[in-house]
Amino acid sequence: MHTSTQDIDTGSAAHEAMPVHGSVTPSDPESLGSKVLELSGILQTTLDVEQQIQLFAKAIQAYLSIDGMEYHSPDIGHPLRLGDDATHRATYDLQLEERDLGSLRVFRDIPFTENELKLLENLLCGLVYPLRNALSYLDALRLASHDPLTGVQNRLALEQALRREVDLARRQQAPLSMLVIDADHFKRFNDRYGHAFGDDVLRALANAASATVRRSDLLFRFGGEEFVVLASHTNREGATLLAERIREAVAAIQTVRGRDITLSVSIGVAELQNGEDADSLFERADEAVYQAKEAGRNRVAVG
Ligand code: GH3
Ligand code: MG
Ligand code: MG
Repeated sequence: MHTSTQDIDTGSAAHEAMPVHGSVTPSDPESLGSKVLELSGILQTTLDVEQQIQLFAKAIQAYLSIDGMEYHSPDIGHPLRLGDDATHRATYDLQLEERDLGSLRVFRDIPFTENELKLLENLLCGLVYPLRNALSYLDALRLASHDPLTGVQNRLALEQALRREVDLARRQQAPLSMLVIDADHFKRFNDRYGHAFGDDVLRALANAASATVRRSDLLFRFGGEEFVVLASHTNREGATLLAERIREAVAAIQTVRGRDITLSVSIGVAELQNGEDADSLFERADEAVYQAKEAGRNRVAVG
């Protein structure tokens, strides 16, 4: 194993926490000890990053007592935290073959000894390979479910989410609404300024919609210049307000790539009815878009 830049900040007063920051980059799996290989084997039973971190935290307790752990990676939106924060922290940046695997921080009330830190670094080598695989799997899932142009979820993801949300709404007897959003006269952007500019307009549209919806609302690119929002726990009145806010946010876009534009969307809204299936909900929301178009565009219609 190769450990680079392990800074131990001994400049702080004795009663203060001693922060430790290092980076872990193992050379090759054959050079790992049996303890580490065994740990690696346990972690390889799952491709779920959160489960791996939980298993790692549990497994290392056999060698080293810790109070808590935190894992950060740009690949997973939010940090994963286990146990409690504590005064002493050791942080490691994890890397494998130039790939950044995020950073792991271990918390403890009592200081870490040199030997414990060495042991921890060693054990981290058992985490690095399985973690790389889990993050690659996450990438693959993201590629399959997200639209590369706008970064929002794609049609495949919509089909899965729609069935799941309809089931959930039925079971919980909670309202569920769908918005179908279609850009108005979108063809003009391509015709006037080229397809690449049209792509930028689509990105701006997706960003505006995404910034407007709540965290619990799901936004998808259905195809072309059409987007769908699934709003759980939202009835038709709430969904109509949401649609209005999206319509306004898109209409407020004034420039794209430094060029002045006028952009608008027509939005169809439908709330799931008793006994209605996913296809019918979509058809009603889609039908409402046509009504909004016929009524003059840049408006919301409720199906
Ligand atoms: P309407 O107001 O009736 O919806 O008019 P429209 O021009 O938006 O509708 P139409 O369905 O006739 O055209 C959609 C256009 O969107 C045509 C197509 O070239 C363009 N489009 C679809 N997907 C993309 C894309 O990924 N990038 C770009 N640049 N354009 C796209
Ligand atoms: Mg369209
Ligand atoms: Mg259109």
